[in-house]
Amino acid sequence: MIKIYPQQILDALKTVRYPGTGKDLVEMNMVEDNIRIDGLNVTFSLIFDKPNDPFIRSVVKAAETAILTYVSPDVNIRNNITVKAKQLARPEEDKLLPEVKNIIAVSSGKGGVGKSTVAANLAVALAQLGYKVGLLDADIFGPSQPKMFNLEDARPYMVEVDGRELIEPAENYGIKMLSIGFFVNKEDAVLWRGAMASNALKQLIGDANWGALDYFLIDLPPGTSDIHLTMVQTLAITGAIVVSTPQEVALADARKGISMFTGEKVNVPVLGLIENMAWFTPAELPHNKYYLFGKEGCKRLADELHIPLLGQIPIVQSICEGGDNGKPVALNPDSITGAAFRELAENVVAQVAYRNEHLKPTERVHVTKK
Ligand code: ADP
Repeated sequence: MIKIYPQQILDALKTVRYPGTGKDLVEMNMVEDNIRIDGLNVTFSLIFDKPNDPFIRSVVKAAETAILTYVSPDVNIRNNITVKAKQLARPEEDKLLPEVKNIIAVSSGKGGVGKSTVAANLAVALAQLGYKVGLLDADIFGPSQPKMFNLEDARPYMVEVDGRELIEPAENYGIKMLSIGFFVNKEDAVLWRGAMASNALKQLIGDANWGALDYFLIDLPPGTSDIHLTMVQTLAITGAIVVSTPQEVALADARKGISMFTGEKVNVPVLGLIENMAWFTPAELPHNKYYLFGKEGCKRLADELHIPLLGQIPIVQSICEGGDNGKPVALNPDSITGAAFRELAENVVAQVAYRNEHLKPTERVHVTKK
């Protein structure tokens, strides 16, 4: 049997260029000093600056090919290269929110699918089930929770807790809420990019008097952005839920959102998908369902990706009005819409319980700090 030496591996990796800079992997110090060779079995790690580096997949593939080409086609290298990121180590336990049991990120692939509406009603439905709930409106592109909770005039003040000055969240319907919208006006919020928005959000998490909570929901901006990564790096998120409509274009974006969470760099479990605007039922024909955006698109996507479909919420005028009036429909669990949100909340609770039982925090952390 041939004998393989670490230098041969390094020589092969020198032929692979990192597309971002055009320099080779060795020159870029991307090959960790942990090459292990056991017969034909070769393992080592590649270190990327960022966990969301767009070239991870192609670089790993190129590294595998180079080793098979320049060292030997018999080397066992497939799936043996570990990817690490300098930047990110997901916190194992939450130090920022030590009294919070579960942190849930509510996200969507695209705007306007009802993510904020779902987040508000889910918060209310969880509170109605008897849980202590907090909601952070992190949607810098359209902070709408102050309106949905009839808290547009609220101005959170500072309180002193154990010698620290903390922001006291606003509160309505038993839910503690802070929104980026309390601190900037809507027109300016869209200009908040990158570090500025991330830092503001970190403050709303770490320097606020959230206290003991069963569920802390984060209404994220639509799509995938730096904010998502900041949240993932800052908090030990229990799981993400993705809101979509059954429309094809929305589903395509939801799919992207899901793969961002499940990608090994971010590695947040997806608790499930929520189909909003699943069908329209006119008040005068309560048994008729009109599938305006297509039928059961989210169910198909959930089945395909093997994730739960947590709920289907119809298009109902009262949901829209509830948002505009600051009275989420979930406040009335006896209404059809209220019942849909209650069922959603129960499914979320069940998924969280399942995750907490089956996944220890350490198992969720794949990316290690360099
Ligand atoms: P996003 O947060 O995804 O941008 P919003 O929650 O702001 O979306 O919802 C967009 C609009 O659609 C709002 O006017 C909201 O009231 C309305 N809406 C959301 N879901 C429903 C629904 N199931 N039925 C009726 N209107 C809805």
